[in-house]
Amino acid sequence: MINRESKTDVILIGAGVMSATLGSLLKELAPEWDIKVFEKLANPGEESSNEWNNAGTGHSALCELNYTSEKPDGSIDISKAINVNEQFQVSKQFWSYLVNSNLIRNPRDFIMPIPHMSLVQGEANVTFLKKRFEALSNNPLFQGMEFSDDIEKLKKWIPVIMEERKSNEPVAATKIDSGTDVNFGALTRMLFDHLKSNDVEINYKHSVKDINRTSDGLWEVKVRNLDSGSVERHTAKFVFIGGGGGSIHLLQKSGIPERKHIGGFPVSGLFMVCNNPEVVAQHHAKVYGKAKVGAPPMSVPHLDTRYIGNKKSLLFGPFAGFTPKFLKTGSMFDLLTSVKPYNVITMLAAGVKNVSLTKYLIQQVISSKEQRMEELREFIPNAKSEDWDLVVAGQRVQVIKDTESGGKGTLQFGTEVVSAEDGSIAALLGASPGASTAVHVMLEVLDKCFPQHMKEWEPKIKEMIPSYGLSLTENPELFEETHTLTTQTLGLSGEKSNYR
Ligand SMILES: Cc1cc2nc3c(=O)[nH]c(=O)nc-3n(C[C@H](O)[C@H](O)[C@H](O)COP(=O)(O)OP(=O)(O)OC[C@H]3O[C@@H](n4cnc5c(N)ncnc54)[C@H](O)[C@@H]3O)c2cc1C
Repeated sequence: MINRESKTDVILIGAGVMSATLGSLLKELAPEWDIKVFEKLANPGEESSNEWNNAGTGHSALCELNYTSEKPDGSIDISKAINVNEQFQVSKQFWSYLVNSNLIRNPRDFIMPIPHMSLVQGEANVTFLKKRFEALSNNPLFQGMEFSDDIEKLKKWIPVIMEERKSNEPVAATKIDSGTDVNFGALTRMLFDHLKSNDVEINYKHSVKDINRTSDGLWEVKVRNLDSGSVERHTAKFVFIGGGGGSIHLLQKSGIPERKHIGGFPVSGLFMVCNNPEVVAQHHAKVYGKAKVGAPPMSVPHLDTRYIGNKKSLLFGPFAGFTPKFLKTGSMFDLLTSVKPYNVITMLAAGVKNVSLTKYLIQQVISSKEQRMEELREFIPNAKSEDWDLVVAGQRVQVIKDTESGGKGTLQFGTEVVSAEDGSIAALLGASPGASTAVHVMLEVLDKCFPQHMKEWEPKIKEMIPSYGLSLTENPELFEETHTLTTQTLGLSGEKSNYR
């Protein structure tokens, strides 16, 4: 039975940070457009964007060692680190615009300053970190970074990690105070509040079941109202599939040729959360280590101060896990039903190529709490089991696709925008660096899907994001200007917060 039909300009599927960002950009650029959102859960930001389902790191390569690799000649490749940092600056500029325009309120509710640190052990790693520090120090985006291998200084920076450390191995760290902890759940909720008060129709408990092209070139989205059980049909000129892990299935339903030779592999995340306020109070940084040999980049261990629900917390992880679900609230058949005749070779090739990842995941899944505590003790030597509880985080669906460099079935660790040739539909796949780069990625969606409007929109985009189209690395004065502005507007100057 069909109870409701409607026509609209834009349909956003999913109420995560990506749809929230795209909707907010469109509201500024084309305020007259009619936007509808369909979300299967009862509230926004309940899947990967929820504060407990991700690590809340404002990824800007200040501490993540996997964004800088050592080249065969021993020098450090910092190109990826610069890219990730530039993308986070874009997010900060847009958030700053929203705050300055009173479209969202207290930034302290979603972003907090917190030092970002990298910590390594062993001579080779210390040499690597020093070279990384030297390579980044010349770049304006990384100004203020400090390096130290002096135990007394490290004890001041990270007492809980350095006290009672018995190993005689050399240790070193870098520290930069311009890092952030971002509550992407709170940000998503704020953005949906803003959209709602600007006439965007947001339908919770509405699950999208099918997407089809109509004879007049529009998209018809079939939606089930989960309260009444009725089926609704809504048509739109443009559809954004922002379903997080659910995006692959929805992209497949659209039938566009670009859906072929793409698959997804789910990796779940677990964190340990500290329940001892004394330990929580002693640490004040996000400290990233080095991934173990053979471990995927998203499993880099880190000990993080977080600000969740008006409270300072301490989390360690992530530990990887495996379930065939593509969403935390997904189905055990998600992986199986994502395999289609047009991606089966891609999926099988990925299986053959990633035996070591499979082994790693099996070993992670069967780890006991004590084994996980041992990993934590590499950071906090005297960590006590009773002070730490395990929490299940979100699902990351890594994209598998055929690439020229990697061949069939190559596992991707970044995000991918897949769009139809005519730009009438786009999907966001993948997870990392994820939410931090939402604004950059959604600008990419606009560029791919609305090329005919970009010239007309450019002045407004530049008003919202002054560095749009420019490299901050190559324009240090512009960086200085935008950095000062975002630091001020978002309250990131680093003064002590009121949080407990
Ligand atoms: C363990 C972990 C750690 C992470 N750490 C970080 C980090 O430190 N920093 C960072 O920047 N990023 C991090 N990320 C990545 C980040 O969380 C994601 O990139 C981001 O939240 C994705 O947002 P999204 O809007 O695409 O998806 P989601 O937030 O998952 O939202 C998708 C929404 O679509 C809905 N949906 C799905 N299917 C349907 C359907 N058929 N009909 C209707 N609705 C549907 C879902 O219910 C959900 O609400 C991490 C992720 C994980 C899992």
